[in-house]
Amino acid sequence: MNLGISATEFVSQAKEGAISVEEFIAKTLERIKQVEDKVHAFITVDSQNALAKAKDIDKKIRSKEKIGSCFGMPVSIKDNICAAGLKTTCASKMLENFVAPYDATVISRLKNEDAIIIGKVNLDEFAMGSTTEFSYFGTSRNPWNPQYVPGGSSGGSGVSVSALECVASLGSDTGGSVRSPASFCSVVGLKPTYGLISRYGLVSYANSIEQIGPMARTVEDVAFLLNIISGHDSHDNTTINNPQVDYLKDLKSGISGKKIGIISQMIGEGIDKEVASATNMAISKLQDLGAECIPISLDAVEHSVAAYYTIASAEASSNLSRYDNLRYGFNFGTEGYEFKAYVAKARSNFGPEVTRRMLLGAYVLSAGYYGKYYLKAQKVRAMIKAQLDEAFKKVDFLISPTMPILPFKIGEKIDDPLKLYLTDINTVTANLSGIPAISVPFAISSSGLPIGIQLFANSFEENKLLQAAYVLQETTDLPEVPL
Ligand code: GLN
Repeated sequence: MNLGISATEFVSQAKEGAISVEEFIAKTLERIKQVEDKVHAFITVDSQNALAKAKDIDKKIRSKEKIGSCFGMPVSIKDNICAAGLKTTCASKMLENFVAPYDATVISRLKNEDAIIIGKVNLDEFAMGSTTEFSYFGTSRNPWNPQYVPGGSSGGSGVSVSALECVASLGSDTGGSVRSPASFCSVVGLKPTYGLISRYGLVSYANSIEQIGPMARTVEDVAFLLNIISGHDSHDNTTINNPQVDYLKDLKSGISGKKIGIISQMIGEGIDKEVASATNMAISKLQDLGAECIPISLDAVEHSVAAYYTIASAEASSNLSRYDNLRYGFNFGTEGYEFKAYVAKARSNFGPEVTRRMLLGAYVLSAGYYGKYYLKAQKVRAMIKAQLDEAFKKVDFLISPTMPILPFKIGEKIDDPLKLYLTDINTVTANLSGIPAISVPFAISSSGLPIGIQLFANSFEENKLLQAAYVLQETTDLPEVPL
């Protein structure tokens, strides 16, 4: 039995009865046991429920009962998305024992389609980070070389898909957290347009810029998942009420005659040589297939990381103030504490990166500094959006490397927050402006590490974006993960 099959292959085989869902789930659980020591993707594995559900689905398939479009496909979920009855820890000591009382909208939609939630996967604490090193439960490791970071913050999602511990995963992307691990682990990851997917049941980090996003082995699979999880939700008023699109329908339309802008600021200075040459290779392949590629300058991008960390930290400091150990948190009682001593002890359950963000956020919002930092960052955000609007008058897509550098060694940058923040230079633009962006696995470096290429489209043009991503995917022939 091949655990590396795509979601669409899984569905067609399960539908025909060519694979037993129970057997597939049992093999997947075995695989998890086998590789977790090396890669540590999971925080919770829900073996019993997964097996019970699989049996039930097999029975329904045999008796030709009506069944959801996922046919028991095993999906892992980033541990900041609530699935009823399972812990949602956000990889934080603060929520170590928090059991979600309800399903996020994306989870209920997956369950309605008979997906199996195989477990909850690792992340940087509260999704703040780019490597999954800032997890209270320990670092996830890159399946392509376990000494290297898998990217983050949805590292557990990228790792579990890449290491064949599930067929697909959901991550969240506030500043690149779906696309970074997708790129570093050689899987496909989509950050959808802001408002396309409900955030109900996603633990908030920075509400105005984040989206849940699908991660899988192929572009088709990402389109398939998007069909299920996208759409208006009365529980999240930021979701848009557009007519439902079938993202699989025109996936193979090609890119002939389309225009692609190469973002100069994302492929010049500071980009690893092999990453740059892979990007140039991707551009020339797209040209060969009928696209016209032209350079596009977006100079506001140079300020994007500074604006992103200002806005994201400001929103984080406000969101995380709810963890006071009374409503949520680590309950040690209030007896015998003065107010300040109590708050200090309660808040000390956050890790170092989350603490840094809260302090930074409180600072940029404070009286006297608001105009200098927060307001300025919002102006940069508006500039980025205006420059993108102009760009999309000239081109259909934009292209860049997803990450400026190759995956690096665990521990290499952990003591230098600024270096870590700068690795987000190519991803934060999509979040600040709300536009969709996708990372497609494109090459393997001479050192055996994955390189992903990023494509952007205008808001709510996921259909077009997935068509271009599909073309790019079809130009590649990548090796299997060496694990
Ligand atoms: N690395 C970025 C941060 O730490 C992005 C995280 C994310 O997208 N959740 O904020």
